[in-house]
Amino acid sequence: MRQSPIKLSINSSIIRPLPRIFFGNYDVRLKRPLKLANKGYTVEMAIPQTRNGQKPFIAGGLLRGQYVAEGVHLHWGSPASGGSEHMVNKRRYDAEMHIVHRNARYTNIDEALNYSDGVAVLGIMFKIVRIPDRIYPGLKKIYAELPNLVEYHSEAKLPGSITLGQLLGDLNTRDFYTYRGSLTTPECNEAVTWTVFAKPLPVAMTDVVKLWKLQDSDGNLIRNNYRVLQRRNNRPVFYRTPESQ
Ligand SMILES: [Zn+2]
Repeated sequence: MRQSPIKLSINSSIIRPLPRIFFGNYDVRLKRPLKLANKGYTVEMAIPQTRNGQKPFIAGGLLRGQYVAEGVHLHWGSPASGGSEHMVNKRRYDAEMHIVHRNARYTNIDEALNYSDGVAVLGIMFKIVRIPDRIYPGLKKIYAELPNLVEYHSEAKLPGSITLGQLLGDLNTRDFYTYRGSLTTPECNEAVTWTVFAKPLPVAMTDVVKLWKLQDSDGNLIRNNYRVLQRRNNRPVFYRTPESQ
């Protein structure tokens, strides 16, 4: 009844003056080590505590209370097609980053997945541009490690440190779609409040090519690791407008 991903468009959304997403500790450096891992179906980074001994968290939008950041991973396509999970205004973007958060009232992600309000995921679209005109220091460090993550179960540590906010850079976080859905990987738990930002971040082709070279446990290339579109089943999708706050 509430599976993800789905098609998103302004025309099919309820335009509503929702609060902006509040980013807590997103500007505080994360403790080291920052480990990236090839999971066989994606590349993932677990999110450690920040240097002030807390964790990054979000609030606002459709969320009630605070949601603590747990992990970041990516979905991508192939040289023949884009690979975002959500389609935005009929467009499948080149890649989609997910920052997974769990409701602070639950102890860990496994517990949170049992509740309809257990998890909040931020979806960030990536669009290939010929010559990126901005540098994203956090993402740049991740892209730089991808060649060390080609094999299944390989791990790499990010050099130096980053803030979680450095994965968003100058992304417009005021305009977003939000709806109640699910994880897009098994067990597809219907526990996720999705917040998908309407505008993409630019990415260089050379960096997306690195994703296309990653391998699964059989040595096959991990490509098109997005789930097919799911039925909306009359669910409301909300779109936040810039005028609203
Ligand atoms: Zn995902």
